[in-house]
Amino acid sequence: MKFVYDFAEGNKDLKDLLGGKGANLAEMTNLGLPVPPGFTITTEACQRFLTAGTHVDGLDAEIDEHLATLEAAMGRRLGDPADPLLVSVRSGAKFSMPGMMETVLNVGLNDASVDGLSRQAGGNDRFAWDSYRRLIQMFGKTVCEVPGHEFEDALHEAKTAKGVSDDVQLDADDLRALVTAYKKVFVKHTGHEFPQDPREQLDQAVAAVFRSWNADRAVLYRRQERIPTDLGTAVNVVAMVFGNLGADSGTGVAFTRDPATGEQGVYGDYLSNAQGEDVVAGIRNTLSLADLEQLDKRSYDELMQIMATLEGHYRDLCDIEFTIERGKLWMLQTRVGKRTAAAAFTIAVQLVDEGVVDLDEALTRVTGAQLAQLMFPRFDLSENPDSLTCGIGASPGAAYGEVVFTSQRAVEVAAEGRPVILVRRETNPDDLPGMIAANGILTSRGGKTSHAAVVARGMGKTCVCGADEMEVSATSFAIGSHTVREGDTISVDGTTGRVYLGEVPVRPSEVVQYFEGDLDPAQANDPLVAAVHRILTHADGKRRLNVRTNADTGVDAARARRFGAQGIGLCRTEHMFLGDRRELVERLILARNETERNEALSALQPLQRADFLQIFREMNGLPVTIRLIDPPLHEFLPSLEELAVKVAVQHEHGQRVEHDEQLLAAVRRMHEQNPMLGLRGVRLGLVIPGLFAMQVRAIAEAAAALASEGGNPRPEIMVPLVGAVQELETVRAEAERIIAEVVGSSGVEILIGTMIEVPRAALTAGQIAEAAEFFSFGTNDLTQMAWGFSRDDVEGAFFWRYLELGIFGISPFESIDADGVGRLVRIAAEEGRAARPGLKLGVCGEHGGDPDSVHFFHEVGLDYVSCSPFRVPIARLEAGRAAV
Ligand code: ADP
Ligand code: MG
Ligand code: MG
Repeated sequence: MKFVYDFAEGNKDLKDLLGGKGANLAEMTNLGLPVPPGFTITTEACQRFLTAGTHVDGLDAEIDEHLATLEAAMGRRLGDPADPLLVSVRSGAKFSMPGMMETVLNVGLNDASVDGLSRQAGGNDRFAWDSYRRLIQMFGKTVCEVPGHEFEDALHEAKTAKGVSDDVQLDADDLRALVTAYKKVFVKHTGHEFPQDPREQLDQAVAAVFRSWNADRAVLYRRQERIPTDLGTAVNVVAMVFGNLGADSGTGVAFTRDPATGEQGVYGDYLSNAQGEDVVAGIRNTLSLADLEQLDKRSYDELMQIMATLEGHYRDLCDIEFTIERGKLWMLQTRVGKRTAAAAFTIAVQLVDEGVVDLDEALTRVTGAQLAQLMFPRFDLSENPDSLTCGIGASPGAAYGEVVFTSQRAVEVAAEGRPVILVRRETNPDDLPGMIAANGILTSRGGKTSHAAVVARGMGKTCVCGADEMEVSATSFAIGSHTVREGDTISVDGTTGRVYLGEVPVRPSEVVQYFEGDLDPAQANDPLVAAVHRILTHADGKRRLNVRTNADTGVDAARARRFGAQGIGLCRTEHMFLGDRRELVERLILARNETERNEALSALQPLQRADFLQIFREMNGLPVTIRLIDPPLHEFLPSLEELAVKVAVQHEHGQRVEHDEQLLAAVRRMHEQNPMLGLRGVRLGLVIPGLFAMQVRAIAEAAAALASEGGNPRPEIMVPLVGAVQELETVRAEAERIIAEVVGSSGVEILIGTMIEVPRAALTAGQIAEAAEFFSFGTNDLTQMAWGFSRDDVEGAFFWRYLELGIFGISPFESIDADGVGRLVRIAAEEGRAARPGLKLGVCGEHGGDPDSVHFFHEVGLDYVSCSPFRVPIARLEAGRAAV
């Protein structure tokens, strides 16, 4: 097996093997762009290393060979004291995990070659010692786990001793002294000297990059981003180029379009006389690309040209890292860049207008998750909230919460259920848990390319960075004379960068206003709304799946219809039995004879009919699937504990309240060990005479009423929890009789079908289809019963462990388990349709609005998905994406 690839041997499609960074470095090399020579050690080598724990057979020899090629290309040897070759050792996984893993620069330097490096640079001692101290610092921190702050403290001390504020003000002697200090720190923490053998440095750095795949923060990031745990990272070994050689050198990052808004035109940050992470770490204030043009026009022009080449080549927004060494431009990284949800839509449509992609491809460039973000509320500024300060809007959204200053505190406050804003001078990868816990992130330093900004955008979390009026200390921050302390509430607008004191109320986003019909996309001069409109319209034209909604009220039904729902896939009738109607249900349950039961049912019937009529009206002309009552009846009764206490207290006072006594007896009688597997769904209909009949009659009468008003009701009666065709046949016979009686020959058509949510139903779908005009997959119960997971208990109890062990990458209640539960869906769809061609198939339940699940349902050939009103546009988009 080949473990090492020269950059010239790879290309952008080899991300699995070479990681994103390695694949794209290879691609740029082959495009003829100025990339320093280097090679990539594959993800397979990493996987083997992690399995074996140490050594990978054959890897050393391959590294030797490629190193020799690299040395020949550079005309320098690693470890040559007179004229050393230095390299960087960089992690790079298939999916970018910004700042999550490790990189070591300047590998190859030691006490002897530091002088050689100085001579190479024309006697630039300052540069050589600066490079050496950076090596010890990065190597110490990432390879040997020396606490990073020890080095930072030593650097800080050196600056204080000299009375300067900036690294660049330290001279060669200061840096030489700093190297001595760093070495002491190194020995103190590791018990041995900093390794002087360059090849040993290289090998240790490679191993550290491999190991960084399993660092806590990388594991956490992958879980958050749903990146598989077993991919491993590649390692790139790249000849060093130096941005820290003086004022004519520097390093920067850039985007070919604005990653926050999608606006056309390059965007970037540059820092002169700096290396590597200095730009993103917010160590000094960066310059813009316009400043670079003033500073070094030739490099700037070349950079612009390369960026245009990259955009043309990747046909998308790219981000890049570059370094200028004494006026010579070098490309160190590129990739199709992360962007905000708004930018994703805007750019996709721009690219269509520029003739780069067609609408089908534009559709694949956006996701339902991004659309969901655009539906988050915005701040309502009509009350003129107190504006505290303004930073850079780095990741959009409107977030408010308690101010905290540490990642740990953010996690604590969030665990107590309160919203949090994490405030930091700048963030680093150790802040990840707090960033995940926080509703919003606010930093005083760094630009749109800072760690906070990049990670927040990736997570879709509100972030304002670079609010440089803020003086951040350990437990408060100050803006002028105003101080905000831990625990105070602030509001952060990630779109405009504004920060407000207190909790600012929110209003619907423009995109939601557009869905509501309050914003005409042709009139709105909001490019985002226009982009969403265009892409969704295209998705609607492409998709094969219909999208319905789950709605129990006329209000929900109406909203969903505005959002594009093509009917109701699930109307739960039990919600209509709550509130003051609970008493009627109680009467039904307590009925001692047929007369009492019929009285209770007759009282409920007109109420149900009115509910249905309202919903049919809102959905006039569209199908409405109504599920007959499903939950165990005791859900409508008081809890056993409460009632037992109440009656006991009555007894103590020598009282007997007949109603309470009866109720208690009923609750005791109806108590079940496993209510979700007990008397519910169709079983209720078979056991309690008249209950389903009442509901069917209410549906039929409501339909007849709407028809007589000239409307077009299209009810579909759905029987829940069927496991055997006989259950359905029994219910069906009665329902058909009632329907015939009520609607007669009025032309109203009412379908009868069933939910497929008990595994046995899926496995006998061929039989069940004989009695069903449609199936609706109830994937919540189907998942619960297929796995034997009690949905209400397992998520908190042990799912975290299952996720940790990789038993599944995401809860099967969130996204359909295609292999297991999905197989049941597949079987039922196939056998159902074989028995009854034209059988309508849909899905209701949470999975109907989950992007991955929508793709699965498309592929299985269902007719529709049904989801909550706010997920309807997301399902429309994903159904369109599934179809292109
Ligand atoms: P990340 O994946 O976190 O971006 P990188 O591997 O890109 O980490 O490296 C971190 C920084 O070091 C980047 O700013 C990059 O430009 C710089 N760097 C990496 N390799 C070299 C090199 N060979 N010469 C100069 N700078 C380098
Ligand atoms: Mg990088
Ligand atoms: Mg169910």
